[in-house]
Amino acid sequence: MKKNLSLSLIAFTLILSSCEKDPAQVSVTAGINTPPIVVSPVAPPTFATDSTLLLGNPSNATSNTADFSNYLLREGYYSVSYNRDAGRPNWVSWHTQSTDYGSVPRQNDFRANQELPSDWYRAEAFSFGNVYEFDKGHMCPSADRTSSIVANSSTFLMTNIIAQAPNNNQQRWAMLEDYCRTLVQAGNELYIICGTYGEGGKGNSNTLTNTLDNGRISVPAKLWKIIVVLEDGANDLTRVKNTSRVISVMMDNVNTTGTDWKSYRVSVDEIEGQTDYDFLSRVSPTIQSVVEARVDNL
Ligand code: MN
Ligand code: MN
Repeated sequence: MKKNLSLSLIAFTLILSSCEKDPAQVSVTAGINTPPIVVSPVAPPTFATDSTLLLGNPSNATSNTADFSNYLLREGYYSVSYNRDAGRPNWVSWHTQSTDYGSVPRQNDFRANQELPSDWYRAEAFSFGNVYEFDKGHMCPSADRTSSIVANSSTFLMTNIIAQAPNNNQQRWAMLEDYCRTLVQAGNELYIICGTYGEGGKGNSNTLTNTLDNGRISVPAKLWKIIVVLEDGANDLTRVKNTSRVISVMMDNVNTTGTDWKSYRVSVDEIEGQTDYDFLSRVSPTIQSVVEARVDNL
């Protein structure tokens, strides 16, 4: 009994230490016939440095199920505003730094997110149907989360996945993801938020598709992404300045070939205008007004 208890404690510690970023509640199974103990570890507050929502929650998503079109999921490795009736994320927000990069291979375990309320539709790995029409495109990329199997696997929850035109996903969107990792490897940490807008995209057949899985999954019309670049350091919120580099893009969800993402750059103000979200809302309004009006041109 004593031995079992100490083993449980070891397992418990391992589970806790595997939750690197703003861990949500952790369930620990204490024994076969006892109910799971729900433990609230000392989690960094939502807006702690390096947390996924440090720079803000652009749509004020909440974990109230009545907020079904703007439902907050905190996966630890990223946060999501999920839209039940669209069957897709509105946005996904995360932080990335060099310690997020390891040697864990791509897990490819696309799966339904069991954290969604049980009476809500949950997209499964197969719900996109014809796999050649749209890719299962990651919002928080698999390659940004390679420090542990748990971290990588978390990116394959279908609530982090959109129906993305394959050439967009594999070419210019992927190039921008790669570029972000080169910035991290050069000594920066990044706050990234990306998401969807509108309905109707064109996949491999180049025909407009509004929904998949009999209307349960909305195909986005547009994809956008905002990247705040900071040199590695502490107190990140206070280090966002007028001069900080902010890269933002808006792309149609169409199957145009090409790796050039730079010509899709727009201001954050442009994305705010289209989406009605307020990005970087925890940054001072005077700094927001400067960095959000500028279009990156490096
Ligand atoms: Mn992708
Ligand atoms: Mn803003």
